[in-house]
Amino acid sequence: MTRTLLRFLDFTLRRCRDEDRRVKCVTSVPGPCPSVGFMLTQDCGAESEWLSTEGEVTDWMRKHTSETRHLRYERTKREELLMDPPGSLPAGTEILPEGWTPP
Ligand SMILES: [Zn+2]
Repeated sequence: MTRTLLRFLDFTLRRCRDEDRRVKCVTSVPGPCPSVGFMLTQDCGAESEWLSTEGEVTDWMRKHTSETRHLRYERTKREELLMDPPGSLPAGTEILPEGWTPP
């Protein structure tokens, strides 16, 4: 099977893991810049680990704000998807077998 034919197969997207999120503090704070010798502003950069729920995100932000008074954050969400081809493959297959053809 060529790559061109695979592009036109009717794959089904399936979520493999629940969505999780990470939050990063992007509040501008003054910081020294050794290369130019004076103060510049930069993002705080404090970042959480990957969190499971919005409540955990809010708790992390609340704790960081209480410690730093920083208020501006960036949230990143991720999810992991699997492309199921037509037919069936053994459980756990993540790479189409060499020479695989659709049913
Ligand atoms: Zn911060």
